[in-house]
Amino acid sequence: MLLILHPDIDESAEDYRKTCDFLRALPRIEMRTHVVQGQQQRLTEIYLLGDTHALDKDEIEALPAVERVVRISEEYRMLGRHKDEKRQAGFEYNGVTFSQDTLHVMAGLCAVDNPQNVETMLRALQQHGQVCTRMGAYKPRTNPYAFQGHGAKCLPWVFELAGKHGIRVIAMEVTHESHIEEIDTALEKLGRPTGVMLQVGTRNTQNFELLKAIGRQQTYPAMLKRGFGISLNESLNAAEYLASEGNSRVIFCLRGMKGDSGAPHRNMVDFAHVPVIKRLTRMPVCVDPSHSVGSREAAPDRILDVVHATAQGVISGANLVLVDFHPQPREALVDGPQALLLDELPRYLDDIAACRETYERRRRIWDAC
Ligand code: PEP
Ligand code: MN
Repeated sequence: MLLILHPDIDESAEDYRKTCDFLRALPRIEMRTHVVQGQQQRLTEIYLLGDTHALDKDEIEALPAVERVVRISEEYRMLGRHKDEKRQAGFEYNGVTFSQDTLHVMAGLCAVDNPQNVETMLRALQQHGQVCTRMGAYKPRTNPYAFQGHGAKCLPWVFELAGKHGIRVIAMEVTHESHIEEIDTALEKLGRPTGVMLQVGTRNTQNFELLKAIGRQQTYPAMLKRGFGISLNESLNAAEYLASEGNSRVIFCLRGMKGDSGAPHRNMVDFAHVPVIKRLTRMPVCVDPSHSVGSREAAPDRILDVVHATAQGVISGANLVLVDFHPQPREALVDGPQALLLDELPRYLDDIAACRETYERRRRIWDAC
């Protein structure tokens, strides 16, 4: 059972105390408080876990601090929709709003290599009005002898360059709890010129200790990649781990499913699940066409498969696009062959804008019914 308290309620208020005293006295019920800071207001939600069937909804709704009560199902307790359209969804981070209604492109390097390439990339993004990027410093690699990313030592110059070019949010994968601390230390030392969204890669979707560590901190939002060989339900539960530990600022990213049936693509593109995730949860949905497709092959219409896959995601209402670009793909230390080129950036953004307009038009068509 979920209790939504009156907006901006003060925790030292008498109403709040009385409500909590009543709830604490309920037998076999555990209480978890969750604060969601929205753009306009601060919302306090209390989750009652345990034997809640016997509780009287009207009685709880009458408690002085409670605005309304929602009966929630077992699945995705915090991130799920639970047939309650009024619940706040989405979040703001470092001046950028992420929700199921917004669209942002996170174009950038799969792996940070050198300051020149990072700067060239960021300058191009700035020229095209972009405030988000992707930059990999910690790379989980299949082959132990492959480049593992520059790690903590590249963070100061990456963050400085990002700040210089007006980047507000960098999607950056972390593979270990200690990386959060390294990112935090580097940002703090520089006076926080930019922000980071902690990315959980597909190889770590069910690394529960990593999920709990990311969930315990409130400073950085998270982007969870769908596990490439597990069910959607298992991946959504992984996202719920983050929220259950206290961090509900979570984006869910589709990146294709492993298996021969996707060939010749690197993975089977799964962007038909964009609306499914929006229906089941309140998370903004990201698509990663680069790691889904994994090459620069083009169709006879001369449009790259990566671009076609992007279009499929955006036209179905995706809220973010995470995509590999590189100014010099031959110099790329990871995934050069799938990277888009900088001179393709304006056309790529135009294509996305066209797909977004079509998505909005599709919504109007179906709204009219
Ligand atoms: C990445 O985005 O750089 C990455 C490694 O993706 P995934 O975890 O989806 O393979
Ligand atoms: Mn990659």
